[in-house]
Amino acid sequence: MSKYLHKIGGELWFKEEMEEGIGHSARVDKVLFDDEIDHQHLVVFENAKYGRMFALNGIIQMTSSDEFVYHEMLTHVPLYAHGEAKRVLIIGGGDGGILREVLRHKSVQSATLVEIEKDVIEFARQWFPETSNGAFDDPRTNIVITDGAKYVEETDERFDVVIVDSTDPVGPGEVLFTEEFYAGCKRVLNTGGILTVQGGLPFLQPWEPKMIKERQEKSFANVEFYVAAVPTYTGGLMTLGFASDAQYPHDETWLARRTSANPLEMGYYTPEVHAAAFALPAYIRKGLE
Ligand code: SAM
Repeated sequence: MSKYLHKIGGELWFKEEMEEGIGHSARVDKVLFDDEIDHQHLVVFENAKYGRMFALNGIIQMTSSDEFVYHEMLTHVPLYAHGEAKRVLIIGGGDGGILREVLRHKSVQSATLVEIEKDVIEFARQWFPETSNGAFDDPRTNIVITDGAKYVEETDERFDVVIVDSTDPVGPGEVLFTEEFYAGCKRVLNTGGILTVQGGLPFLQPWEPKMIKERQEKSFANVEFYVAAVPTYTGGLMTLGFASDAQYPHDETWLARRTSANPLEMGYYTPEVHAAAFALPAYIRKGLE
């Protein structure tokens, strides 16, 4: 049994190990996997309330009950803002949730998923088939198993939207938060292209969005942040980065027109939520100054 699982009063519990000394705990009703995979330690387990959950190196990555929040907001904000994205690049995202949401847009002709850990894709197929929902096998999908930073540095492909669904800036994910990586994302974006990134938990890690902003501003004219409330992400809100050289209005009337042209059944995203997500709480705005 790994160090992330603990016997407490006859029950088995998962305890998230964040360096801030806090984190989510969840009773483990059934262990499905608890072992090392190539670069990271993977725990997959079931919890009565949150459904099936998985953690990499002790940090919760996703739960079947609320993954729609994060995957909808990281995907539909750039895709509805752009409006006619044909080629999308996903860095990380080995669980397939972002890929599933990207492929729902009829404008998308190709989605390239660059994941460092082939085992994450394999285990996602096995334990979270509803998350990818067949997206890995969609004819528009190209899966590349390599480091995302290396990919954006070397590829000749060009994209309309780049979505970075990475782990936190530790271990293999650290390189996905560097100035060089953001310059690589800029290099592979077509004119008017948009980069969105997973930007951490601002209440617990206020340094993260600020670090991302300072590094992305070296390559992008406009670097903005928006928020989503993901129940299982400790600290309440999570920040997501939105960078482009173009200026996109986060206006709900404009977005309502966009979404009505390509209406999708959603659990969290609406044009109003999209627009409101960029109205940052004062503590997050201050943290970015
Ligand atoms: N939703 C999660 C979150 O917010 O933390 C992220 C989920 S997704 C599983 C994160 C993925 O990023 C993992 O599958 C991990 O293997 C992948 N990853 C980490 N570093 C990477 C790198 N340098 N290149 C490509 N993929 C990477």
